[in-house]
Parts: sequence; C-alpha cells; structure tokens
Amino acid sequence: MTATPPPAAGEAPLLDVRDLSVEFRTRDGVAHAVNGVGYRVAAGETLAVLGESGSGKSVAAQAVMGILDCPPARVTGGRVIFKGRDLLTATREERRRVRGAHLAMIFQDALSALNPVVSVGAQLAEMYQVHAGLSRKRARGRAAELMERVRIPAAGERLGDYPHQFSGGMRQRVMIAMALALEPELIIADEPTTALDVTVQAQVMDLLAELQSAYGMGLILITHDLGVVADVADRIAVMYAGRIVEHAPVRELYKNPAHPYTRGLLDSVPRLDRKGRGLSAIKGTPPDLTAIPPGCAFHPRCPLARAVCRTDRPPLYDVAPGRTSACHFWRETMDGAR
Ligand code: SF4
Repeated sequence: MTATPPPAAGEAPLLDVRDLSVEFRTRDGVAHAVNGVGYRVAAGETLAVLGESGSGKSVAAQAVMGILDCPPARVTGGRVIFKGRDLLTATREERRRVRGAHLAMIFQDALSALNPVVSVGAQLAEMYQVHAGLSRKRARGRAAELMERVRIPAAGERLGDYPHQFSGGMRQRVMIAMALALEPELIIADEPTTALDVTVQAQVMDLLAELQSAYGMGLILITHDLGVVADVADRIAVMYAGRIVEHAPVRELYKNPAHPYTRGLLDSVPRLDRKGRGLSAIKGTPPDLTAIPPGCAFHPRCPLARAVCRTDRPPLYDVAPGRTSACHFWRETMDGAR
C-alpha cells in the first residue's frame, strides 16, 4: 500500500503534491472537496486528472496554483512542492512570482478569464512589460510572435481586437498564448476544450501537445472527458469524491482498469477497440461532499460492492509499478476487464 501515487519515472518531479486536503464551509455543513490528493509531474510529461463534476479535480488544481478563495475554502493539509519549494508555506509575494513565470493556468472559459475591455494584444504585451521589463514596442512585437505561434491567422493585424471579437477556439488559443508568454515550466489546463465543438477541441488539444513538446513543459490536463486524454496524456489520475482512486499510465488504464469507477467511465464512452459492445452509464450520482459515504465513497454506485466496502475505506493499493488503485477488490476488477 502507498499513501500517494508513485513518482513519475526519471528525474525529480517539477511538482510534487502530497496529501492535499481542501474543505469549504457551506450553509449545509463542511464540504470535503479534496481529501488527501497526491500526484507528481515531471518536465515534459502530461498528467491527466479525470473525474466527474464535483470530484475535486479543479479545486485541487486551484489549491496548487494558490488561487482558491479562502474563505470559504480552507487548505486543511498537505504539501505542494514545486521545484523543491513548498508553495503552501510560501508568502503571497513568492507565490505571485511563481505564478505566470513558472506555473501558469489555462481556464475553461476564456471569455471570463480575459479582460473584456482591453485588447488581446495589450493583455499579452502587459505580461512582457510587467514580468520581463520589455518596452511597449518590444512587448507588442513579442505578443504578435506569440499569437502567430498559437496559429491565430493574421496575428499582427488582430493585436487590437478585443476578446469578444474572436471565435471560441481562437479565444482559447489566446488563453494558451497568455499561459505560454513567460515560458513556464508547468501549465495546468482546466477543461481547456469543454466549451468548444469537437473539431475545434481536437485542434486546440493538438496545439497544446505540440507546444508542450516544443517548450518541454510539464502539463496537467484536467478533464471530465476520457476521449480528450487518450492521445495526449502519459498518465491518468482518476478522482472521485475528492480522492484519487486510480493512477496509471494511460495505455494500461485503458487496457485494464483497476478500479470499478474507471471501468464504469470507460464503459460509458464509445471506443473503436470495443466495437459492437453497448455503452452503459454508471448508475447513481456523485456523493454530496458534505456527507461522503463511509468506507469506500463509491460503494453506493459500485457493482462489486460488498459489506467491507461500506465500512472500511480502501487505501491506495500498489497494483503494479507506477499503478495504484483505491479498491479492496482491484484484482477482481482487473480480471473482469480482460
Ligand atoms: Fe467497489 Fe468496494 Fe472497490 Fe469501492 S472498494 S470500488 S465499493 S469494490
């Protein structure tokens, strides 16, 4: 058994999140949004964090970035070690310096993340003026280069356009450009393609993957969509009720999941390698985070649940090198997937 998922192979991770917990005080009680989450990301690596809405994947990412609204949120435990420094004990100023220059985030909704009354070129140029001390002219030149890099057609002529003048896909490219401006070592992309249609989704994901490889960055891709991650992620961490319930290299997870929740997710999306088999949805709904079920939080929805699942919280079991599962019956789950 292990307390946190195994490290990425190779050198020391860029980001090492350990046992992170976050709660929210709500009118209905304390919502336990993140409950002991741990993951590691190395340079040049993509970790997908997958889960339904309310699984805690975005809250954990916001805690890593230091952008949670506290209160009502409260980080109740854990460590967020970025390049050897625990960001949870850093001063506000230190965290501000790390954000943007070393760690950047791409949000789902570019329209609300960008300033609607400032032109896109001015917003990009400001990054270079404030953080890199460039003159206005040089900063605008760099902004135009970056817009070309993310393949915005006629980039130089569009510097004066405002966010609402771009299509959804182009706006998301602008968000990617903003995140890339200072060449961070790690980018967290929170549902970066959810608001886009399928063709544009694929283009934006391809662009992200290409830029990640060109810049050698680490990438955390947060998504509820298994289809988005198959081609771009190296590893997947599956979250449920604020916990990572399975963590595995992407191919192994697709081939033979070690947690019934992951199996349920895989069975609910169309896959070319499973032609002819019907799709089935996971029964029930995710739990109320103010009243997470005892034992295994997934037990009310789990087809394999037994008495022990209702009382004993499964630890993260080591399933194979680089693989963990929080299921008492992970062996059975894997056998059943064959
Ligand atoms: Fe299902 Fe039990 Fe495994 Fe939880 S521990 S996923 S309830 S079999």
